Amino acid sequence: MMPGTLVKPLVRVPVQSGPTVRVQDLTGAERAVALYASDMPSGRRRHSSEQVREWIVQGVERLGVEEIRRRGEFFYGHRLLELHGLVTAQIQQRHEQRFPKRGRLNVADQQAADNVYGDRMSEATRLRNGTAAVDGDCPCRGTRYIPAFYDEDCGPVDMLCPVHARAEIRRHRAGYGQTFDLRDDVRHTPRHTGEQR
Ligand SMILES: [Zn+2]
Repeated sequence: MMPGTLVKPLVRVPVQSGPTVRVQDLTGAERAVALYASDMPSGRRRHSSEQVREWIVQGVERLGVEEIRRRGEFFYGHRLLELHGLVTAQIQQRHEQRFPKRGRLNVADQQAADNVYGDRMSEATRLRNGTAAVDGDCPCRGTRYIPAFYDEDCGPVDMLCPVHARAEIRRHRAGYGQTFDLRDDVRHTPRHTGEQR
């Protein structure tokens, strides 16, 4: 063998211009927030996966990763309260200030869901997926319990706050035969301060 043939050709490594954003490193809520902040049109239309990906990256570049995460947590917290009819006027007002165009937010949410389905989520992102926060005074007032109704035999009955008692709620559900994901414990460690708000 000729010694010269052992020399590997030089591989040029492309120089990256600034930090790159990968959609896989964003939760569904974060992708929705990014799309909302991007040039994506508000109409319900089909777009190519590449185009949606580009808009997500554009939104992140506009707001910054920190702000995308913050808004993503508020967006998801609002949704959890809304599902249980627990949104107060203050929380709703702040939500609408952040996302004044309701229709656009719905479109962004749908596009983000499709993108998560197609592009998936990195493992690290899956661990913090579902982190929620409330912008305003949560109906549980930080106690994680919300008065639900009055029972003649038991007295006042509380419900668990869908945002601040999420880990407990998941454990309860797991107790009724659903698959329990151990990752939920990791996801709700105290250092996730967004969960504690
Ligand atoms: Zn709460």
